Amino acid sequence: MLDKVLIANRGEIALRVLRACHTLGIRTVAVHSTVDRNLKHVGMADEAICIGPPPSAQSYLNIPAIIAAAEVTDASAIHPGYGFLSENADFAEAVEQSGFVFVGPTPDVIRLMGDKVEAIKAMKAAGVPCVPGSGSPLDDDIERSLRIAREIGYPVIIKAAGGGGGRGMRVVHTEAHLGNAIATTRAEARAAFGNDQVYMEKFLENPRHVEVQVLADGRGNAIHLGERDCSMQRRHQKVVEEAPAPGITPEQRAAIGKVCVDACLRIGYRGAGTFEFLYEDGRFYFIEMNTRIQVEHPVTELITGVDLVREQLLIAGGEPLSIRQQDIQIRGHAIECRVNAEDPDTFMPSPGTVKRFEAPGGPGVRIDTHPYDGYRIPPNYDSMIGKLIVHAHDRPTAIARMRLALNEMVIDGVKTNLPLQQRILADGGFQQGGRNIHYLEKRIAERKIERDASV
Ligand code: ADP
Repeated sequence: MLDKVLIANRGEIALRVLRACHTLGIRTVAVHSTVDRNLKHVGMADEAICIGPPPSAQSYLNIPAIIAAAEVTDASAIHPGYGFLSENADFAEAVEQSGFVFVGPTPDVIRLMGDKVEAIKAMKAAGVPCVPGSGSPLDDDIERSLRIAREIGYPVIIKAAGGGGGRGMRVVHTEAHLGNAIATTRAEARAAFGNDQVYMEKFLENPRHVEVQVLADGRGNAIHLGERDCSMQRRHQKVVEEAPAPGITPEQRAAIGKVCVDACLRIGYRGAGTFEFLYEDGRFYFIEMNTRIQVEHPVTELITGVDLVREQLLIAGGEPLSIRQQDIQIRGHAIECRVNAEDPDTFMPSPGTVKRFEAPGGPGVRIDTHPYDGYRIPPNYDSMIGKLIVHAHDRPTAIARMRLALNEMVIDGVKTNLPLQQRILADGGFQQGGRNIHYLEKRIAERKIERDASV
């Protein structure tokens, strides 16, 4: 069992990790930038250390400062949360080489999944269904690329092997544009990710985003905890997530879950992880694996009753998985709305002081968030300030519950996306369920046209 965990993150996920640690009787070390010394979890941690100025590069991404903080406080492990260094193989390696436990997979597995071409190769070999594609990086031989595209069939998408965060991708509809698209994506990838390898996939036109949660102990045991639907996206950023995914049958769930579990065992996966798929016409196509806890993990927790962060900590402490696949029962329906400090119409971030903060409550309502009255949201980090999550026995009841909870929530002083979330939950298409990844952007664009026409 771990005795002291350093939390290398901030905001709601740092608080979430701290709570899981304290549940297990594990002591905590908070590290924070100068602007973050008043974060809720910093006050609650057993120890707190300032690791640098506000810019992430000098604080939450500063590997030597974080390792030094672990040394000074004599921590036994480091939990990276999500974002920041959570999928940085060099960080995981530095943590282990300095004698600490990294709460996550081995550096090798993180590195493998960080290179999308290699990840897809490994997944294919493990029997995971992938999007038809080049299977290897594209070279400078345009004739060869044209041949591959012809075989796959247009439209195709050119993607950066080192890409992330929805960047470094370009859709090509006709042969005439292929050469240029490869060249520009390559140049962008070189500048943005320091890796100019690009590959090609069939562009799926109307997919949903469906992802499978797994837990593995790295000692031959792995389970899946069902799927989540995260198709409500804007600019490839998830806005609303839910579990289970509407319309997925228990047989489909068991089948794709088993594929993911087998892949975990094959690559020696350890910890919590997510297999992301595009889902179209009843078929799953792997796009990437996230080797960390995800923002939307609570919806899975609510329908399975499993505390995923607690399991991460137990696995990191060297315990074998205590939950068997047959113990996992899907109960009811859960929905998560991300709460962002941003303008609900222009999506511009809206940092500033939260004058009044009131959380909703009642049966089946959970809130993972850190602001309080007088909290100052700094402009330096992501605009997500929390997540509102509800659980009910079925999807319509969960939607009704979320609408009441959104109404009850008060955040004064900064703009938030709560009005957008209200509109999504009231939307007929969302209420039907199963909409694809383009649906939200289309509805936002339609609303803008209506608004512009009325003024
Ligand atoms: P990132 O790591 O940048 O998030 P992903 O490979 O997960 O990159 O892709 C991000 C998003 O891009 C997907 O959720 C989907 O919306 C879109 N996308 C990626 N590959 C395809 C594809 N083959 N067909 C259609 N859309 C795709």
